Amino acid sequence: MDNKLAIFGGKPVRDRFLPFHQPTIEQEEEKEVLETLRSGWLTTGPKTKQFEERFAQYVGAKHAIAVNSGTAALHLALNAIELQEGDEVITTPFTFAATAEVILYFKAKPVFVDITLDSLNVDVNQIERAVSPRTKALLPVHIAGYPCGMDAITDIAGKHNLAVIEDAAHAIPARYHGRMVGAIGDLTAFSFYATKPITTGEGGMITTDNDEYAEKCRVMRLHGISHDAWKRYTVQGSWYYEIIYPGYKYNLTDIAAAIGLHQLRKCDKMHDMRQEIARAFDEGFRDVPEVETPVVNNRCQHAWHLYVIRLKLEMLRCDRAQFVKALLAENIGVSVHFIPLHLHPYYRNRYGYQAEDFPNAKHAYDRIISLPIYPRMTDGDICDVINGVRKVVEWYRV
Ligand SMILES: *Cc1c(COP(=O)(O)O)cnc(C)c1O
Repeated sequence: MDNKLAIFGGKPVRDRFLPFHQPTIEQEEEKEVLETLRSGWLTTGPKTKQFEERFAQYVGAKHAIAVNSGTAALHLALNAIELQEGDEVITTPFTFAATAEVILYFKAKPVFVDITLDSLNVDVNQIERAVSPRTKALLPVHIAGYPCGMDAITDIAGKHNLAVIEDAAHAIPARYHGRMVGAIGDLTAFSFYATKPITTGEGGMITTDNDEYAEKCRVMRLHGISHDAWKRYTVQGSWYYEIIYPGYKYNLTDIAAAIGLHQLRKCDKMHDMRQEIARAFDEGFRDVPEVETPVVNNRCQHAWHLYVIRLKLEMLRCDRAQFVKALLAENIGVSVHFIPLHLHPYYRNRYGYQAEDFPNAKHAYDRIISLPIYPRMTDGDICDVINGVRKVVEWYRV
């Protein structure tokens, strides 16, 4: 068999490119969106309310507040705890831009704590050292959908009187010791961006059990007005409203909520399918020592938003960038999550970070590759991904 890599003129493992992600949008979503368009109610209204109620019930939280992005959800969560200029929020450098930028909106400081190499989540044993008199909150990120050590995080928060806000953009449905993510911290932020486990195109949700936080988020998502358009323009409400804060324009449309209702309904089914793919990958790489697969504690449920492999570079004659390039040439769509925040120019310049300030985040970054994992993948697609990775490993093996 000709095993020459496609980048060197060999035949790729598959003929057609396998996209890194494709959302699962089916007839039910199409039908509900069309009905919404025809209903005459396009923006925040009955569909959004229904989506919020079902979401709250699904994760086991008292309140769910729909917004137009995960970033908006994080922003409103930090607003709810009244983050102030000069405050500090402890989070991870191993995340997407949104996690830390929302802290900067308040002229507060993101304080990074390094990750553990196996979980890629914040190292809970290093959090307490980072707590200062200015610390206001802990903002863990459940990377790839794998829950952080929430027992330790909750303990530290209790001891130092800090709020816990979870970035759960990847983490639905995720469970920590039997509890759903969304019903653990003081506030939890979800994202329904196009690539996330459930999508509304763009969208987000905040969950909380705290009535006061929920009310603040509801008011601030629509101009700081004391009751929203849905109540204002129906018989239950009136033309009268009051602006009680300078709020934001963060409301979710009913068109998006129409998609969300069906995505939520099949959330478990889609999770089962991603879990099957994860199992197939685990099995497919069991005898490939150059590839480290995700580590999962059996008391947690991984949402499997991402399946991140870590290359053992000392066993390969290539770096991660070359490995990614080779996989793309084999027609396997892969990606890298994430370039740690402290390596980006803004954070480097503003805080003077060196790559080695967070050695595990840097070490992981040099080795990670996210493989495609989504319900629309066929058994053939899954085999192609396994064969593609195995082929590139064999070629570069020392
Ligand atoms: C996607 C993402 C967000 C932001 O979500 P948007 O809906 O795109 O605003 C926040 N945090 C993490 C870790 C993400 O991956």
